[in-house]
Amino acid sequence: MTRSVASLVARARAGDARSVARLISLVEDGSPALGEVAAAFAPFAGQAQVVGLTGAPGVGKSTTTNELVRALRAAGRRVGVLAVDPASPFSGGAILGDRIRMQEHAGDPGVYIRSMSTRGQLGGLAAATPQAVRVLEGAGCDVILVETVGVGQAEVEIAQLADTTLVLLAPGMGDAIQAVKAGILEIADVFVINKADRPGADHTYRDIQGMLALGERAPGEWRPQVVRAVAVRREGIDEVVAAIDKHRHWLTDSGALRTGREQRAAVEVEAIALGTLRARMGSLRDGTPLSALAARVARGELDPYAAAEELLKTL
Ligand code: GDP
Repeated sequence: MTRSVASLVARARAGDARSVARLISLVEDGSPALGEVAAAFAPFAGQAQVVGLTGAPGVGKSTTTNELVRALRAAGRRVGVLAVDPASPFSGGAILGDRIRMQEHAGDPGVYIRSMSTRGQLGGLAAATPQAVRVLEGAGCDVILVETVGVGQAEVEIAQLADTTLVLLAPGMGDAIQAVKAGILEIADVFVINKADRPGADHTYRDIQGMLALGERAPGEWRPQVVRAVAVRREGIDEVVAAIDKHRHWLTDSGALRTGREQRAAVEVEAIALGTLRARMGSLRDGTPLSALAARVARGELDPYAAAEELLKTL
């Protein structure tokens, strides 16, 4: 291992916030040192509870995350927060940006807060986020909150890397119906109906409960919890923490923690491998195996399946 990476890792392990930040920047930039960083943190895998938090813009994710950090700190737990910008081609990639309002935790050595964009990373969010989680885990976080805006694929990817997934909804946004459409019912372990001070919150609550009642569950399977909260008034936050802990116990007791993490590792390895493959294949630039094969396919000399087989052989 190069000395600079080794000393960064050592300092991060000792709780140095700046080293943690630098390591996450390496992840974000898709640095060539990533392999070394991942190797250094591998032994600490699985020590933290990873909680994903997603929902449409404006439902109260930042506010809720902030309050969850407060509650977890009060319970003496070390907390990492990753606000992941999914860098969607539709959003231009600046949905979360630096707008996390968690200044009150800025001076607390038991909290790491970081927003992260994944534009530089091969394999995007799916490849980069788990590496950042590993850094926070290695730095001694007990709980890592991964916050992302619910836009399409991003929330499914968050669910894949989290032990527990919270989906935030707010009344009056047609969210319950949208949740079904977006397949959110399948990914949520805990629903938080935030803005329960607003009209329509009971309606949203009943909608979700009703939909959950329709779903078939095998005996012993987890039934998603539904919690009402008013994050701006700190109401319902302890209940959210309790639901997260309840899910954690279920994960451990049922064996789902292990299988879930194996699945997560598979997704992670696959994303890295696909990113590497894509990089090795090259683009359409002259001289890459891909460009030569593409020219033959375009001229009708070769079919695309045979070309793909040949391409894989060159890698
Ligand atoms: P995000 O976009 O999902 O991160 O949402 P924010 O946390 O930025 O919250 C969006 C807006 O909703 C802000 O103006 C918050 O103050 C407000 N908000 C958050 N939680 C509540 C709540 O429980 N009740 C009400 N009435 N407003 C809230």
